[in-house]
Amino acid sequence: MFVHYRSQGIVLKKVDRKEADQLFTIYTKDFGKLKVLGRGIRKISSKLRSGMEMFCLSEIGFIQGKTYKTLTDAVLIEKFQNINKDLEKINIANNILEILNTFIRGEELQEDIWNLLVRTLKQLDIKNIDIQKQRLIYHYFFWNFLSLLGYKPELYRCATCQKRLSPEKLFFNQIEGGIICQGCFLKKKSGRVISSDAVKILRIILNKKEKIILRLKVENNLFSSLEDISKDCLRTFNIEEKSI
Ligand SMILES: [Zn+2]
Repeated sequence: MFVHYRSQGIVLKKVDRKEADQLFTIYTKDFGKLKVLGRGIRKISSKLRSGMEMFCLSEIGFIQGKTYKTLTDAVLIEKFQNINKDLEKINIANNILEILNTFIRGEELQEDIWNLLVRTLKQLDIKNIDIQKQRLIYHYFFWNFLSLLGYKPELYRCATCQKRLSPEKLFFNQIEGGIICQGCFLKKKSGRVISSDAVKILRIILNKKEKIILRLKVENNLFSSLEDISKDCLRTFNIEEKSI
C-alpha cells in the first residue's frame, strides 16, 4: 500500500528522463521542495501534462516509491498565462524560480516563502505592467526571499561599525551585511557605491510596502545600481544571475 500525498505546487524545473518521463523539481505549499517523477508525462495522452507546465499553480498528488516520488495527479488551479506571452516576464520568472531552486536545498517547509513565490508570480502575471514594474517585482522577491532565509541587509546603520549613515556617502557590501559607511569602505576596500535613492527603494522593498513599489517611478541608473547589488550578492553565494 502506498500513502498518497497532496499539496499545491509550482514547478521550478523539469528534466526529460528515459522514454516519456520527466523529473520535476516542485516547490510545494505543504512539503517544501520536492523531486517527483512524472511517468509517461511527455505522451500527448498523459492527463498529468496540463497541470505540470511552467508558470502554473497546481494541485498535485504523489506517492513515495523506493527511489522516487511518483506523480499521480496534477490539476491546474491557475495558469499565469500573461507570463508565458511575454519574453521579459519569462526571463524574470525563470530567474526567480532558479534562485529559489538554488537556495532551497531540502524539504524544509517555509510557508512565508511559498506565499512570497505565489504572490510574486501573480503580480508578474498582471496584464500590461511595463518592464520597470516587472524589475521592481523581481527585486521585491529577491530581497524579501533573502531576508526570509536570514540574509536581510542592514540599511539603517553601518553594517560594520554601527554608526549612523550619512546619506551622501553610502556603500553596499554584502559580506559585511548591508550598507557600510565611507570610513569602513576605505578600510575594507570592498563594496560598491550606492545612492541614497537606491537605499530608499531597498527600504521600501524590505518594509514590504508592496503597493508603493508598484507605484514608484524609478530611473534607469537606479535600476543598474539595484541590479549590480543583487548580482554582487549572488556572487557572494557563488551564484551567477542571468541578466534581467
Ligand atoms: Zn562604518
